Amino acid sequence: MPDRRRYSFYKGLFPGDVLNFSKRSHYVREIMLERVYPTKVILPMKMHYGVPAVPCVKIGDTVLAGQCVGIPAKGTFSVPVHTGISGTVADIRPITLPNGIETRAVVIHNDMKRARLESLKPRPLLKLSATEAINIITDAGICGMGGEGIPTGAKLRRAKKEGVNDLLVNCLQSEPYSTSDLTAITEYPDYVVNGAAACTRAIGAKRCFFLISEDRKEQREALENSIERLKDKFKDLSFDIKIFRERFPQGYYRLVAKALYGKRLSSEDTLERTCSAVLFNCSTMLACWEAISDNIPMMSRIVSITGDASGIHNMLVPIGTPVSELINSVGDFRASGGRIIWGNCLTGIEITDPDNTPIIKLTSAISIIRRQVVPRTPCIHCGLCSECCPMGLSPNTIYEMLNQGLMQKASEEGARDCIACGSCSYICPAGINLTDKIAAFAGEGRVIEVNSLLYNSGHTATEGELIYDTSEAQSGSLLEEYAGEKEEDGRDEEGRIVLPFDGGKKV
Ligand code: SF4
Ligand code: SF4
Repeated sequence: MPDRRRYSFYKGLFPGDVLNFSKRSHYVREIMLERVYPTKVILPMKMHYGVPAVPCVKIGDTVLAGQCVGIPAKGTFSVPVHTGISGTVADIRPITLPNGIETRAVVIHNDMKRARLESLKPRPLLKLSATEAINIITDAGICGMGGEGIPTGAKLRRAKKEGVNDLLVNCLQSEPYSTSDLTAITEYPDYVVNGAAACTRAIGAKRCFFLISEDRKEQREALENSIERLKDKFKDLSFDIKIFRERFPQGYYRLVAKALYGKRLSSEDTLERTCSAVLFNCSTMLACWEAISDNIPMMSRIVSITGDASGIHNMLVPIGTPVSELINSVGDFRASGGRIIWGNCLTGIEITDPDNTPIIKLTSAISIIRRQVVPRTPCIHCGLCSECCPMGLSPNTIYEMLNQGLMQKASEEGARDCIACGSCSYICPAGINLTDKIAAFAGEGRVIEVNSLLYNSGHTATEGELIYDTSEAQSGSLLEEYAGEKEEDGRDEEGRIVLPFDGGKKV
């Protein structure tokens, strides 16, 4: 019996209430998935939580689409970086991303030949062990595409170790205007479902839940049809679709834990331990199945060009594409004077140099927002920020405490629970930027260890720390070495067949 309850957290922002969700048509299908072929890509070595990758190409090298250009540093959380275009390595230089991360970037000029590695083709193999599947995902350079950036292989390993029961697929995409995840579901539902089922098996879980908003009828139908088509291949798993109310910021793991399992998580709790569940974004699941079935590493993603000063476009974009090339491919919005936001309009960061700012693995949207003059006054104690805070905080009180240097009191008031959703700043009629101050305080207080999932230092690996020999990596994608291994061993340590599939886009 399908579960038809409506799940949600309290508070938040609502469509038709204060946010303009109007461009989030129920019929995302009307908006075609377009493609962009940039003249160059700028590939930062750090687009994930963890230690930056190490460039394994040099200036002047010729590269093919799918080729690894950055390899993970040994013994650390790191993921490889692959190019989505063919061409010549023009530069390897330092870059500062809008989120403040400083790293090296490999710049590749496109030869427009669209030449790709021979190895990028459907795997002929029908069986993979859990370890093999997770290794493929790791070496494909996949990290959480919903914005968290945690290396997916590491997250799967942790979930397997914790013995979780449920794998949750976040199909909620609650940010206003953005529809990239929804487009991924509409265009590639079988990839999303196959990827989720494969990951569920790989971690030894039994239930796979897709979390989707009640207003996303088309995507829900696409998922239901796909589950119906594929369920016979995954008879040992149970699938269900959990329907959530449409509100922002639906989908954050602590809010999902409260809505789905009735458990309140502190900032130190994990979903795995407290609820025996692990949460992945639907685009991440799509990327996992691309890697498993088609041997395609993470080299492109769907990005929404959206906002109240632009039309809405969903583009399939090589990672590293400069933001300016992306927005120019759909119209010159700079002429409109709108602000260009790297990310979603509530949580993203305004950029002023779109020519040198790349799309990274976590960029789900570029928002173009009308410039507004917001009146700035002292707090008028309207209470709107408290009314909308999804974590149940009083942002105005915390903001005042932080201004007065009362850090301990702000902590006691729950400031560490802030999830930086941006709702309070958005709603504030006095134009006070509450989020920046509160979120910075919340972030500073978290204990971040080397090699923990949230380790985010600017550490750059030395040659002695390399996990792969760079000369090997230069020969092509790290994925190439997998074909032989899998033929030898199709089962995991317990002798279970984990991933039967028939390969390629026929699934
Ligand atoms: S940014 Fe933080 S304080 Fe503001 S509404 Fe979101 S969770 Fe609450
Ligand atoms: S929304 Fe702004 S004006 Fe209203 S109580 Fe909060 S900080 Fe004060």
